[in-house]
Amino acid sequence: MVTKDLGFLLKRYNFRETSVIASFYTQKFGKITGILKGFYTQKKEFSSTLDSLSLNELVFYPKKSDIWLVSFADLVCDYDFLRSDISRAAVASIFLNLIDKTMQPLDKNPEVFKLLKDCLSSLKGESARKALYVFLIKFLTLSGFKPEFGKCLICHKPADEETQFSVSRGGLVCKKCGAQDQDTRKIGADTIASLFYIQNNDFSLALRINPTVTCEKEMAYLLREFLCCHLDIDISPKLS
Ligand SMILES: [Zn+2]
Repeated sequence: MVTKDLGFLLKRYNFRETSVIASFYTQKFGKITGILKGFYTQKKEFSSTLDSLSLNELVFYPKKSDIWLVSFADLVCDYDFLRSDISRAAVASIFLNLIDKTMQPLDKNPEVFKLLKDCLSSLKGESARKALYVFLIKFLTLSGFKPEFGKCLICHKPADEETQFSVSRGGLVCKKCGAQDQDTRKIGADTIASLFYIQNNDFSLALRINPTVTCEKEMAYLLREFLCCHLDIDISPKLS
C-alpha cells in the first residue's frame, strides 16, 4: 500500500543516468532504502534536491525487497542555518552517521526520529557541544545501549563521591565493585548528576542544564570512550 512518511536523508548515490538510490531515516519505518526513478529528469514529483542535511516528505511502496520505490520527495526542512556553521554542521553529521551506523533497517523508533528532529532544530540556538552530548546521552538511552548513570551496575548501590565509570561495563560502578576492573575512570559527582539528569528528563528540560566546562569535558570524554568501546565509532576529532 502506498505510504506517506517523513524521512531524513542518510546517504545517496546515483543509479544509471537519471535515478538515485537513497537511504532515509523515517518516522514510521526507521531506516529504509529507496530508488527514486527519474530523479534527474526534473520530474515534478521530486521537488526536494535531497541535500545531505534534509528532512523530506516521501511517498513510497513498502515491499519485501530491500529497495523500495520512492515516487515522491518534497523538502520539509533543509536546516540552512547549518550551511555556514562548520562546527554545528559537523555535529549534525555525527547525529546522522550514528543513526546510519547503528540502526538496523526497518527497526522503527519514533522516539529516536523525534530526538534527531529536536536536536537538529536545537543547533540553531544551542552550542554544538551541548547539542552533541544531549543527543548522545538520549540516543544511547533510546536505542538500546543505555548507559547506567544512576547506580552501581553490579550491586545497585546509589552513586556517591567514590563512584567510577566502567567503560567496558557501560556505566557506573562503586569503588568496591570496580576494584577488579582495568578500565574504570574517575568521574566527578556533578558529572554523574548531569548525565543522570539529561538521561531522565525531557529533551527541552535536558537542554536547560548548564554544567561547568570541566563537567562538559568529562561527559564528552566518557561518551567518546563509550562509543569507541561499544559501537566502534570514533568521534574524537569533533568532540573536543
Ligand atoms: Zn557495586
